[in-house]
Amino acid sequence: MAFDVQTATAWITASEAVVKANEARLTGLDAAIGDGDHGANMARGLAAALANIAEKEPATPGDVLVAAGRGIVAKTGGASGPLYGTAFRRAGKALGDATEATAEQVGDALEAALTAIKELGGAAEGDKTMVDGLAPAVAAFRQAVADGGDLASASVAAADAAEAGLAATVPLQARKGRASYLGARSVGHEDPGAASLALILRALAEVTA
Ligand code: ADP
Ligand code: MG
Ligand code: MG
Repeated sequence: MAFDVQTATAWITASEAVVKANEARLTGLDAAIGDGDHGANMARGLAAALANIAEKEPATPGDVLVAAGRGIVAKTGGASGPLYGTAFRRAGKALGDATEATAEQVGDALEAALTAIKELGGAAEGDKTMVDGLAPAVAAFRQAVADGGDLASASVAAADAAEAGLAATVPLQARKGRASYLGARSVGHEDPGAASLALILRALAEVTA
């Protein structure tokens, strides 16, 4: 299947639903090493993303993601709002005016999102942030496509890699964001942003299956 307006909209819809269903879990993770608002921030941001998509009625999958990103940026506080908002906007712009993006183009869009998050937040892999979920996911997505995989199988590979990346954040000490203020006490917990990222990429795998 191709990544079209319907698929892109279904992805944001499924992301909002799964984040809402996991809001308490995300808040609990952030309560352990942050300020306990990540669940609320993500639920509010993705609801705003859906509202902006409904209002703008975008004609391309790229414009769906741009509308989602603008909705998130406008309505979400915290570190995650600008980071996710910019990531979705840059992913959307990377798709250009294609009406049906290929798996390769979706890989390029995910890479653009990763680059945007790294530029804006200054985090590298291993700093215990959402980058630790997204970086391996982008690599796995691209590898799957290079091996002849389609959008569905590449999205499953990306979601699996994001979940492994989330698990790998547990022993890390945070070097970016609020959790870094805890120093060594940030060790032993999943990173909340890596957790929401894994949920959002699992949603992509589900809507492209
Ligand atoms: P805040 O920390 O401002 O309350 P959230 O709780 O919504 O914002 O988001 C926290 C998450 O944001 C972290 O778990 C981490 O994954 C991500 N994050 C924070 N700072 C950065 C950064 N500089 N680069 C990448 N991700 C970051
Ligand atoms: Mg927080
Ligand atoms: Mg906060």
